[in-house]
Amino acid sequence: MPYTEDRSAWFEGQGLWQHVPESDWLDWTWQLKNRLTTVEQLERHMELTADEKAGCAFANHKLALAITPYFFNLIDRADPNCPIRQQVIPRSAEMILSEGEETDSLGEDAHSPVPGLVHRYPDRVLFLVTDRCAAYCRYCTRSRLVSNAQDYNFHPEHEQALRYIEAHPEIRDVLLSGGDPLLLSDKKLEHLLSRLRAIKHVEFIRIGSRIPVFLPQRITPALCDIFKKYGPVWMSIHVNHPRECTAELRDACERLSFAGVPLGNQSVLLRGINDDADVMKALVHRLLRMRVRPYYLYQMDLITGGAHFKVDVRKGLEIIEALRGHTTGYAVPQYVIDAPGGGGKVPINPDYVESITDDEIVFRNYEGKRFHYPLKTRPLQPAAEPQVTVSPA
Ligand SMILES: *Cc1c(COP(=O)(O)O)cnc(C)c1O
Repeated sequence: MPYTEDRSAWFEGQGLWQHVPESDWLDWTWQLKNRLTTVEQLERHMELTADEKAGCAFANHKLALAITPYFFNLIDRADPNCPIRQQVIPRSAEMILSEGEETDSLGEDAHSPVPGLVHRYPDRVLFLVTDRCAAYCRYCTRSRLVSNAQDYNFHPEHEQALRYIEAHPEIRDVLLSGGDPLLLSDKKLEHLLSRLRAIKHVEFIRIGSRIPVFLPQRITPALCDIFKKYGPVWMSIHVNHPRECTAELRDACERLSFAGVPLGNQSVLLRGINDDADVMKALVHRLLRMRVRPYYLYQMDLITGGAHFKVDVRKGLEIIEALRGHTTGYAVPQYVIDAPGGGGKVPINPDYVESITDDEIVFRNYEGKRFHYPLKTRPLQPAAEPQVTVSPA
């Protein structure tokens, strides 16, 4: 059945937590304190499948279970295949190790000059500022170091990383990620941003965060004031399905935008969640309405126990083809594979070019119509004598 959505509806409200005072509900620290982190807590609100129960039992050895009440409300508890549910509730397939899977599938540790910093590209670094998240995506690329379920012993130490950035003038772009940087206190975040701003060669600061999606209450006016003060700061959020685009997320994005934070989105292509052109189209349209520009669509990283989320690359290409030309150019993300072992993000594109010779390029458009563009210029008549007039000095 093709996915259709109610384009006027933005889900909102306290859902299962009607009894909680609104002041608590809107308080991000309340949301964090009241996260669902055990099978017992989940089962108070929903019936888990046997498969999910097995997954939950295993979770504490791999990647902790945590879901904010706000995000839990988005789950369709009657549907075991709910796209929100599959992102945050563990399943038994997490225990299966498949060929090619690694705990550090992107070879980040090998590109780490100091703990918490990944320097893979010439001019920019990835700065992992915390090991905590508001909720845990079951396909997390950094499950080895977030939530500490694997005794990875990662303790972010900012000073060493800041000194490395200060000492490397080639670094013009710093991407704060983690874990989720927005779980740091305002004070810590302000300190980090002010230190980075003080480094002359750092031109560009950005944050990768799923907090607006898991915990939109965190996007407070005080936080936005910090972005205003130390901006420009760009932000990539992480939305995978149109149902995550609630009124609360929309409002959080508005607060960020009004504070001068340009917003992008990174989605992961996930089996049974968003591996469908209609779902993806609904998602990117919602994003644009929230002032968010789709940035990347990721092919799943080869993390341990992630094979059940993996989608055939040909399906990903089909989705991109279904967007390009058929809808707003701003709505089309770049599909990428982050190369296993650490080669960086590589674009994977549908092939519109049929041939290129010295004479012409032959290509097709979004409707499959073929076009020719000449590469050789052939004047249709002999060139006229050049008419040069030189004005007297
Ligand atoms: C994704 C990533 C970046 C940023 O890549 P862009 O394509 O510039 O968004 C930088 N460093 C590392 C290690 C990354 O994984």
